[in-house]
Amino acid sequence: MSSYTAVKDLLSPFLLGELWKGLALTGRHFFSKHITIQYPEEKTPASPRFRGLHALRRYDNGEERCIACKLCEAVCPAMAITIESEQRADGSRRTKRYDIDLAKCIFCGFCEESCPVDSIVETHHFEYHGEKRGDLYFTKDMLLAVGDRYEKEIAAHRAADAKYR
Ligand code: SF4
Ligand code: SF4
Repeated sequence: MSSYTAVKDLLSPFLLGELWKGLALTGRHFFSKHITIQYPEEKTPASPRFRGLHALRRYDNGEERCIACKLCEAVCPAMAITIESEQRADGSRRTKRYDIDLAKCIFCGFCEESCPVDSIVETHHFEYHGEKRGDLYFTKDMLLAVGDRYEKEIAAHRAADAKYR
């Protein structure tokens, strides 16, 4: 260690060197653009691929899209999806049970990637919670209701991402 460095280290605590260094850093950022946002009033922009709360979608005529192929159930690594199917009088196949246990889900997006009819999707909605066991167990009716509520937004995000899929 040189004698200059030794003297500097000796005097630094008396001259409040670390304090001035800290204040200089604060000063440098004081007038720069703020990146902290006031959540929940302000929100950061989200990609069209954001993976939030799940939804089951319908076609414009109100018919549910899901054809009960069970690809999403098979691909789900968390085994969070449970499907039971039935055949309708017209010969088409539909689910009579479609449940997702969101306490198990890891939001990997495999279910929506596997779906051939864009039925199961993940919305931008992430501000939900459960207070007791079972609150995060979403049934078919609940998932369809989420889809009905956010369909406009879901369709816009799918359209924005379409050229990359
Ligand atoms: S996002 Fe992943 S873990 Fe969650 S239900 Fe879909 S496939 Fe399963
Ligand atoms: S949501 Fe899609 S992948 Fe899952 S069973 Fe229905 S049609 Fe098949």
